[in-house]
Amino acid sequence: MADVDNTFTSSKLINISQCHSSYGKNNQLAKPKLDRWKDLNNAIIDWMNNDAIEETSVRIAEQNNFQFYDKIQKAILSDLFSRFRTIYPKRDIEFNHDFPIKEINKEINGEEYALTTYFTYEFIDQGSSEFIKLKTAFDPEPELLDRAIISKLKAENEDFYTASIEREDLEEIELVDNPDEIINQHFDILENFLNNRQARNQGELCSRGCDMASRCGQFPLINIDKLTNRIREVKISKTNTVKLQNCERRAAWNVQYGIPREDYIEYESESSGTKFHKYSQEMLVNNNNFTSDEDIERFNKISENEEVITREKLFSKYRELIEKLKPYSNLSITKSEFNLGFTIVADGRGLKNGEVVDKKVASVFMGRADLVGRADGTPIIIELKTRPELPEDFLEAQLYALGASKLLSVNEIKILHIYLPDEDSSIKERIFSESELVEAEKKYESLAIKSASWVPFNALSPAYNIGDWCEFCEFKSTCLENR
Ligand code: SF4
Ligand code: SF4
Repeated sequence: MADVDNTFTSSKLINISQCHSSYGKNNQLAKPKLDRWKDLNNAIIDWMNNDAIEETSVRIAEQNNFQFYDKIQKAILSDLFSRFRTIYPKRDIEFNHDFPIKEINKEINGEEYALTTYFTYEFIDQGSSEFIKLKTAFDPEPELLDRAIISKLKAENEDFYTASIEREDLEEIELVDNPDEIINQHFDILENFLNNRQARNQGELCSRGCDMASRCGQFPLINIDKLTNRIREVKISKTNTVKLQNCERRAAWNVQYGIPREDYIEYESESSGTKFHKYSQEMLVNNNNFTSDEDIERFNKISENEEVITREKLFSKYRELIEKLKPYSNLSITKSEFNLGFTIVADGRGLKNGEVVDKKVASVFMGRADLVGRADGTPIIIELKTRPELPEDFLEAQLYALGASKLLSVNEIKILHIYLPDEDSSIKERIFSESELVEAEKKYESLAIKSASWVPFNALSPAYNIGDWCEFCEFKSTCLENR
């Protein structure tokens, strides 16, 4: 059997396939949904194992496991718990809650490794087993690798289900026809990783699911030499940084507490702004000929599947963009959607043995720049906006400038905002030298003090600040009910 360190789940492998450096030891990064999931699981176990009448066993389970949360999170947990009880009413059968697994082993480089799928529960009744994966996400589908392992190892007397709490449904896990092929593909990902563990490949994962952002070097440490596991961590996207400036509660509910948004949209069609970014990035990266008429015409080719009106509009914006870029001599754009940011530590609050204590907190501020490269040898970051200028664009410029200066160890960065609304295009150039970088650091230190002060488990601890921004707030009703 493989050692626990040599055991890989589908989610670990999905992350590794995007960036090897994303694999790392546990740290104290805020993961509210995971914390709540653990307490929900504990409540389910308490309830299952309590022979008292339903009402009493539910009350005791909630008391034992939800009492430390604020009332918003308590309500979320109680709702999830009640949904589970509807999906899977208590039955008097054998109950295994020690995370039963199914796994496939393989020797790589002389060591034993395992691809593993975990279940939250196994219910055993008269020699037959039901394995249950407890999922609270909107998309509860198990990953392909999990389905492949189950398909390969399923015995006659075993059934596999997902308890999807959002959908309030118990769904049988679909088997696959080609489990060996899928399993081998995943062992290839693993082998590739084992042969080059440190490879860093910034991308979409940085902001989405990676726990290693403060440690991998992509978001350098600003005011501390080394992070320890005693430092609590919070990851703050560019959008949430802007929110943090206006209303701490709004930012905190997004980044630290994972309070459900009231504007949840499952699918949104690609906007013309997104299309403009996509095509412009495709045109400009690693293209030293972008000012030539011939090359500009290529835009029509790559956007040929768009409707005529959309294509004409996009093309006219692209021509304006090129006009704005023409004065920059020796401009070479090398990357798009490039993650930039940094990690700042501030004195704040954390938990020790259930008590709120003083604790250092690392805030990882990050954003994805549209285009990066060099102009006359100086690093340049270009942001394309299909809207007019907003005051918050300065905060974004500070984020990218400070992040890039630390990442590249340089003291001068140029930031261009190119505004291409339907009327009146314009360009704003900002040069960040030493004094501007110091100013940016101070600004972000003041923001990090705010994010460090949020008490884990208490979503009502961050201060709210009512203003014009409330109109577009994703927590409008929940906030109103809790002032
Ligand atoms: S933050 Fe990004 S670059 Fe760093 S380890 Fe994670 S995915 Fe890789
Ligand atoms: S409604 Fe206003 S005060 Fe409340 S969280 Fe949203 S932005 Fe803040």
